[in-house]
Amino acid sequence: MDLYDELGVKKLINGYATLTSLGGSRMPAVVLEAMREAAQHYVRIDELQEKAGAKIAELTHNEAAYVSCGAAAGIVLSVAACITGLDAQKRERLPFTDGMKSEVIAHRRGVEYAFTIRQAGGRLVLIGGEQGAEAADLERAITPQTAAIFVVYKNDGMQGQVPLEEQIAIGRRRGIPVIVDAAAQIPPVENLWRFTHMGADLVIFSGGKGLCGPQSSGLILGRRDLIAACAFNACPRSYIGRPMKVGKEEIAGLLAAVRWYLGLDHARLMQTYEEQVARVIAGLATLPGVQALRRFPSEAGQPMPRAEIIFDEARLGLSRDDLLVRLLEGSPAVSLAPAGECGVYVNPQTLAPGEEMIIARRIRAILAGTEPDNSGVL
Ligand SMILES: *Cc1c(COP(=O)(O)O)cnc(C)c1O
Repeated sequence: MDLYDELGVKKLINGYATLTSLGGSRMPAVVLEAMREAAQHYVRIDELQEKAGAKIAELTHNEAAYVSCGAAAGIVLSVAACITGLDAQKRERLPFTDGMKSEVIAHRRGVEYAFTIRQAGGRLVLIGGEQGAEAADLERAITPQTAAIFVVYKNDGMQGQVPLEEQIAIGRRRGIPVIVDAAAQIPPVENLWRFTHMGADLVIFSGGKGLCGPQSSGLILGRRDLIAACAFNACPRSYIGRPMKVGKEEIAGLLAAVRWYLGLDHARLMQTYEEQVARVIAGLATLPGVQALRRFPSEAGQPMPRAEIIFDEARLGLSRDDLLVRLLEGSPAVSLAPAGECGVYVNPQTLAPGEEMIIARRIRAILAGTEPDNSGVL
């Protein structure tokens, strides 16, 4: 019996993704140990941030690094840094930015975390339409009030966005920093340095997704002066970043996670994912009314396989949505992502080896009508 059992909180098998709403990821033992060690002593947080940041920067081939309490907080600090620099009077006034350069240009399509830009006082200037935007739209949007260009990176040709290289080139030419939100773009590991080496000024990752660090940690990588301006706006100073406190445990945990992640045998890990996907497919492909396929790359274009299971709803007499509810309500509870109109994805990134078989077994049992229906959906 653990704490979750004691509280009556249902544990889930997460075949969905590194979703914050499901707990993100699981920390390896070395990360937990680093957090435990860090929790034993008092230190000056600024000194720890500076030295852990220098270490993370070195490990990831970057100029500088800062640990935030999540990628969303990393966006707030990055935007604040681009607005205030090291100007104490500007910092004092955030999030109110009258008379300051505070426009942040982003593509209309796909800025899920727009709120965090506004939270820092950024005035969003959206370019393009639902289909994407052109370089000329970006050029036209730049004014003397522009503080930053904000890019949500997707590893798939950017789906109608101006290519990152081009946005960086425009930012360079016009003297405007480019912030890249790459929160969920791990793997591949190279992304930790790829965008900054392309010339992006600040690049943000979630610490609690692919890196398997603490849930409430995030990583800002990039230019030394802008990283200093992030720290300038951040806790323990009482300004815009103060409510986004990152503790010594998270700082230590994220450093340990970055080390751990860099040290993984990534080819081996991909092989494990392939095996898990193959086992799900083998376990379901022969069922009548079911198609099971390997999909590659992932939805965000990452080099990871997933299984897509497509249901013939009419033949099975069960809708995909009802199946998802039954998976979640039954035991052991399973959370999966919907795929298209009548399918689901099984994502190995958040599954311990063996859990994929539990998922296949539960789907088989639901379709065979051999498991009790506690969901109330049928
Ligand atoms: C998950 C995510 C975030 C937020 O990350 P947190 O670490 O949970 O704060 C921001 N941007 C994108 C694109 C994400 O996928």
